[in-house]
Amino acid sequence: MDLSYKTTKEMGSNLTWIRTGGEVEVFRPDSILELKSFVKSGVDYFPLGMGSNTIIKDTNLDKVILKLDNLYKEIELEYPYIIVGSGVPNFTVSRFCIQNFLGGLEFLHTIPGSIGGGVFMNAGAYGSCFSDNLEWVEVMDIFGSVSKLYKKEIKFSYRKCHVPKTFIFLRACFKVFKDEKIKEKVDGYVVSRNLTQPRFLTLGSTFKNPEGKKAWELIDQAGCRGFAIGGAKMSEKHCNFIVNTGGATSGDIVKLINSVQSFVFSKTGILLDREIVLL
Ligand SMILES: Cc1cc2nc3c(=O)[nH]c(=O)nc-3n(C[C@H](O)[C@H](O)[C@H](O)COP(=O)(O)OP(=O)(O)OC[C@H]3O[C@@H](n4cnc5c(N)ncnc54)[C@H](O)[C@@H]3O)c2cc1C
Repeated sequence: MDLSYKTTKEMGSNLTWIRTGGEVEVFRPDSILELKSFVKSGVDYFPLGMGSNTIIKDTNLDKVILKLDNLYKEIELEYPYIIVGSGVPNFTVSRFCIQNFLGGLEFLHTIPGSIGGGVFMNAGAYGSCFSDNLEWVEVMDIFGSVSKLYKKEIKFSYRKCHVPKTFIFLRACFKVFKDEKIKEKVDGYVVSRNLTQPRFLTLGSTFKNPEGKKAWELIDQAGCRGFAIGGAKMSEKHCNFIVNTGGATSGDIVKLINSVQSFVFSKTGILLDREIVLL
């Protein structure tokens, strides 16, 4: 097998929702065979979805970013299941469900990531999360072997899927059901999200909610709403969201996260656990 692979140089700021990060090497396989060969070459890689939960460092990233947007672009409907490639944006899946009157995945309309990122983060909203309707995921391991893991074989918890970091999700299958009211539900979610959260140049929740508490309330109590370092700021609209007010670097964001974590700890004795991924 030919173990060579061709990467491109891209700016991390073009690969992440918050638009920070320096130059990185990116590999976009066009086939499973190409992906297999890449993985088997032994290179250190990081699968990246839409970068809506990840910041990429400003310099010297020592991993190749793996983007799967060229694989499995079609959504397959085999009622009551849909099978989706991991690089497909949540929004596209949600639109497909609306067009086909399929319920069960409406929560993902307002989460601006990909299916692979959603499974890895066990992302969720409005009382539902990715693992709820998941049937199986197809994964490639570090040796290039592809296998199907059923939900019961994977441990999921709040915003976490407990699999080795080297696993690459290729496709996921979800159970859906007929729902004539799907569009109304989604429209309701969109309205409430736009009212309460910044939608662009952000990363979503910076910290996980500690058991029985809301991270944003603790951040507010610690006086960190609106607190800024460089171009990175704790949003006034939703103070658990960091926003890039223009010209932020990933370094600014990391400093801001560390400062807020220590302010909250000093004020409340609670050490907030980061939700966003630092690369
Ligand atoms: C405005 C806004 C609102 C948000 N609202 C919510 C919300 O309501 N609920 C919520 O849970 N999150 C929310 N988020 C956070 C984020 O959108 C989710 O965590 C999302 O699921 C991340 O998907 P992604 O494709 O962007 O992942 P990325 O940020 O690209 O990656 C996240 C992690 O997933 C891994 N990963 C990605 N693809 C794969 C793959 N194919 N195989 C293996 N690992 C992979 C990456 O390696 C990384 O560790 C929000 C973010 C923003 C910006």
